[in-house]
Amino acid sequence: MSFLAEPTVIDSEKRDQLDADITLHHLRSRTDVQTHTSWGAPIMWDGMFQADLYDLKHKTDKSSVALTVFAVGRYLDAYLGAFLNSAEQHFMVGLPVKYYIFTDLPEKVPSLQLGPQRSLEVIRVQGHSRWQDISMTRMKTIADTIESDIRHHSTHVFCMDVDQVFAWRFGSEALSDSVALLHAYYYNSPKEMFTYDRNPKSSAFMVTGDFYYHAAVFGGSCTSVKAIAEACYRGSLQDKDSGVEALWHDESHLNKYFWLHRPSKVLSPEYCWDPVIGQRQEIHVTRIRWAPKQYQALRPNV
Ligand code: UDP
Ligand code: MN
Repeated sequence: MSFLAEPTVIDSEKRDQLDADITLHHLRSRTDVQTHTSWGAPIMWDGMFQADLYDLKHKTDKSSVALTVFAVGRYLDAYLGAFLNSAEQHFMVGLPVKYYIFTDLPEKVPSLQLGPQRSLEVIRVQGHSRWQDISMTRMKTIADTIESDIRHHSTHVFCMDVDQVFAWRFGSEALSDSVALLHAYYYNSPKEMFTYDRNPKSSAFMVTGDFYYHAAVFGGSCTSVKAIAEACYRGSLQDKDSGVEALWHDESHLNKYFWLHRPSKVLSPEYCWDPVIGQRQEIHVTRIRWAPKQYQALRPNV
């Protein structure tokens, strides 16, 4: 049965030399947090890496990054401007970046003064009457757009929620073959607290896992992100056939995927922090901050 399948380990050719160096030499720079996974992927925390070495490597490798974001219905006016303006300040500065904005309201996308080597494409998508469907169909659109467009222009892709704001460097140290983010509310919780899908009828069903990952940020190489997005979309279609929906929708499918195909890099919750949690000693910087939730006002259904 598929849910009992053992997860894979990352194969060594997908591991970055700089990441391997961190694991060897810099682990002791953060003794207060877990800095690598049981399968050898680094967990990126402030203070354990040298940003300029990553930038140099990725400039030399000619890495380029696509950033996909959906702003459908009322989410566009509420969040997109702040998201993009802050991304210009903090996201992959120094590398070529192309934003892909998916919206049902292309004419309302705010105009933006973009930095050098940075561009933006707006792609029209359908709205949906349920926010769950807006969220889940993102996966199909991402997979299709990587195939038709992104893979011809960018080496890496990040996929993000729009209801958040960059506040500090989110740079090339975050790039890897497949990248998952520790959820700010669960990074230090016991595993029994993780809100995996527990319905055996759902394809996202899982008993145990490594971490609880947050779907607001994931990424990797074009090939890996396409595989992630396709698997999550396939999972949600299969669930529809079975008359069920996973507990946390695309996030449940993403957690199942990263259990069976472990990420080659993990981002600490610095990379997507909710200020509502307050101060925590181990959080030295907040690179992305959640924007306040406004479900009643913004979602088409609540
Ligand atoms: N989204 C959107 N319009 C909607 C609902 C969702 O554009 O009406 C997109 C948007 O990018 C949003 C993401 O889907 O950030 C996930 O939804 P949301 O942020 O509401 O989920 P949460 O992070 O609160 O679980
Ligand atoms: Mn969100």
